[in-house]
Amino acid sequence: MNTAKTINAYAVREAGGQFEPFSYEVDELNPNEVEIDVLHCGICHSDLSMVENEWGLSQYPLVAGHEVIGKISAKGSRVLNLEEGITVGLGWHCSYCGHCHSCQTGDQNLCENAQGTIVAHHGGFAEKVRADAASVIAIPEGMELESAGPLFCGGITVFNPIVQFGVKSTDQVAVIGIGGLGHLALQFLNAWGCEVTAFTTSESKRQAAMDLGAHNTLNSRDQGEIESAAGRFDFIISTVNVKLDWNLYVSTLKPKGHLHFVGATLEPLDLRVFSLLTGQKSVSASPVGSPTTIGLMLEFAHRHNIKPQIETYPMSKINEAFEHLKSGNAKYRLVLANE
Ligand code: NAP
Ligand code: ZN
Ligand code: ZN
Repeated sequence: MNTAKTINAYAVREAGGQFEPFSYEVDELNPNEVEIDVLHCGICHSDLSMVENEWGLSQYPLVAGHEVIGKISAKGSRVLNLEEGITVGLGWHCSYCGHCHSCQTGDQNLCENAQGTIVAHHGGFAEKVRADAASVIAIPEGMELESAGPLFCGGITVFNPIVQFGVKSTDQVAVIGIGGLGHLALQFLNAWGCEVTAFTTSESKRQAAMDLGAHNTLNSRDQGEIESAAGRFDFIISTVNVKLDWNLYVSTLKPKGHLHFVGATLEPLDLRVFSLLTGQKSVSASPVGSPTTIGLMLEFAHRHNIKPQIETYPMSKINEAFEHLKSGNAKYRLVLANE
């Protein structure tokens, strides 16, 4: 019996290319897989980095899109935890090996054999996407679907370090870069109870950052403003993908403070050991979060009415949406909707 069928999608065929209609054949679902009818898919800056092959990981034709909201339309024979017809989300990973130490201790996002949804796999800028059930999470009842997609990459990426580092409600925290990830970090950290500072380059975002939950704002490129926060923060999360004066940021940490990177800055860090050593400060980085932490984040976001602020485009206007993201004027996450 021939079980092959076609999935329609948008793909770029070369680094930096435009998205074009593209279709690919799939066969029977694997026993652990589900097929999702895509309703909405957010656009993360990582999609743009993959389109442009900034990280050397891209394979073309590339169907990007890893902030998927959709309905399960089919499932493999061994999928017991998800039913057809329910609404789910899918983020950066579409499968984990399931048997390495990280997988077995609940850190699936650290699995060395995890499969990226858009790395040698076709993602969510499509009518359908496939993924292992282990990486697919049901959406809480009553959550707004149109804006939920960005929680599955942008949201979990900034929520996970709050959990991993045990950030306390009494902590002074800062977020560098108020884009897709940063605007969610402000909302999470405010709801967590922290005193929150937003570092932004955009004067126009200062008031918006306060509305999102910041208590203070500082210019992320103004040496004098950064120096005014010397010794203030327990935890700083950087969402920018550019090089900033990291020694200056370390000087704004309290003793034992952490400077945590989630933004994929490619330039090496030029940190002075002595500025870390004397205050026992540390520098770290992390990828997205585990399925369990994604579930916790969804509950927390729903309870505190934390939502990505989005601008929506029909999927067919995908190239316009990417131009808008490149302009730096997106407020704050772009989401594609299937018509
Ligand atoms: P985004 O929406 O484009 O936001 C990035 C923000 O960085 C901008 O809004 C801007 O904030 C700031 N920025 C940009 N250029 C700057 C410059 N020259 N100097 C100072 N600040 C600048 O991107 P995103 O989707 O939030 O993603 C951010 C980064 O996280 C990307 O590198 C992405 O690949 C990465 N990422 C990592 C993970 C992970 O698992 N670790 C997951 C998702 C994304 P202001 O306007 O406020 O200055
Ligand atoms: Zn594993
Ligand atoms: Zn992402």
